[in-house]
Amino acid sequence: MKRQALTAAVLSSALLGATVGATPAMAQEQQYITIGTGGQTGVYYVVGQSICRMVNRSAEETGIRCNAPSTGGSVANINGIKSGELNMGVAQSDVQYNAYNGEAQFDQPMENLRSVFAVHGEPLTILARQDADIHSLDDLQGKRVNIGNPGSGQRATMEVLMDAKGWDTSVFSLASELGAAEMASALADNNIDAMAYVVGHPNGAIQEATTTVDANLVPLDGPVVQELVDAHPYYSMSTIPGGMYEGNPDDVETFGVRATFVTSADVDDEVVYQAVKAVFDNFDRFKRLHPAFANLEPEDMISNGLSAPLHDGAKRYYQEQGWL
Ligand code: GLU
Repeated sequence: MKRQALTAAVLSSALLGATVGATPAMAQEQQYITIGTGGQTGVYYVVGQSICRMVNRSAEETGIRCNAPSTGGSVANINGIKSGELNMGVAQSDVQYNAYNGEAQFDQPMENLRSVFAVHGEPLTILARQDADIHSLDDLQGKRVNIGNPGSGQRATMEVLMDAKGWDTSVFSLASELGAAEMASALADNNIDAMAYVVGHPNGAIQEATTTVDANLVPLDGPVVQELVDAHPYYSMSTIPGGMYEGNPDDVETFGVRATFVTSADVDDEVVYQAVKAVFDNFDRFKRLHPAFANLEPEDMISNGLSAPLHDGAKRYYQEQGWL
């Protein structure tokens, strides 16, 4: 009896101590944020995982925990943010523009879309089996080409390029819709002749494909590409450096976009502020997480490739830093 009473007293004082001694973070409500990425062999997955790693480092103080699952890519991420299933996501700069303005894949302008920052450059990367003899955009005609899963950014950009060429999918002998994680093995297994991927370099998918089959990167230049670049601020000519992938020692000219990090105006200012602060307060650490991040500069990241207005929470951090 006596013992029990003592135990109860010890327990209750321990509980009391825990309550009284609670840090503000423990008392704080936990918030969870989900960031939409892309296939696991792309770079978006690393972007999302890296942002979460920085955010989760300060979870004790902020009460914010972050996860970044694999998704179908840019268009799927923006649709996920629109439906509230995702809080934030990575999206190509052309897809961001189309979503904000209600063009291409988007019926309605998404007025509450907000940009947070731009990340690495993403060239439209066509990789072809060497035995398919594809050395230019026009050589893709009559071939088996993976144009990307609906929901991916590569599919969106391929549609723009096909439109500009006056092509539909019937110019290919097969237009497959495999997702990012499946296309490298489809190329190696000779189920397709070429794959299209809008992606930062180096990345796992192109690495996987070039180490399992003889494959060449295809240059995309010429007047149609040049016209696209001239007509749209979010496109620019872009080079895939030689020597990054087996069997591809030379630079390859193509065009591309920027990867951008986006959210919705409905997401709390404090949550976006803390996510941005986590990345930029630990920026050197962040940049070491992928070679495509090595040359990122904050001032450029908050001014280029962004069509939607900056989120207020992000703006607050940038103003504090004197970047705006
Ligand atoms: N740009 C691709 C997309 O929007 C994703 C690239 C990646 O995962 O790195 O779907």
